[in-house]
Amino acid sequence: MLRKEPIDRRAGVHYTAADFGPADGWNAFGYDHPRMKREIPGKFFLQAPLGLTGAELSINSLPPGVAVPFLHAHREHEELYFFLGGEGEMQVDGEKIPVRAGSAVRVAPAGARSWRNTGAVPLTYLVLQVKAGSRPASTIDDGVLIDGPVLW
Ligand code: ZN
Repeated sequence: MLRKEPIDRRAGVHYTAADFGPADGWNAFGYDHPRMKREIPGKFFLQAPLGLTGAELSINSLPPGVAVPFLHAHREHEELYFFLGGEGEMQVDGEKIPVRAGSAVRVAPAGARSWRNTGAVPLTYLVLQVKAGSRPASTIDDGVLIDGPVLW
């Protein structure tokens, strides 16, 4: 039975915190894919347990020798694949892109994508989904300093 919730979770008025453990244990998580009608091992979406309101993030672990057997695109969502460990390849619109720890690949909604593990250890990665074109004009300017005690 694959894990369907964080190892630990806590929430306050303005935060939700969850523990998913180190990436080498993410193969213990699973996702019940509503369209494929089966459990996908090594994939878990964080939007629901964290209460994310503007993005979706998944943690992923693909075993050695495994390839995603289909291409997919999105209607509105841009995806960022950020690789944390292992080695693999992404295919986007018929082009192969080598990936390893530290590789980041942005794919526009219409990009036909798939990926595979070409290494000897699990390929671990995060996938961030946001609505394409939704980035605010400023990033740093959105932050404001708060007058209050820091606990350390
Ligand atoms: Zn996708």
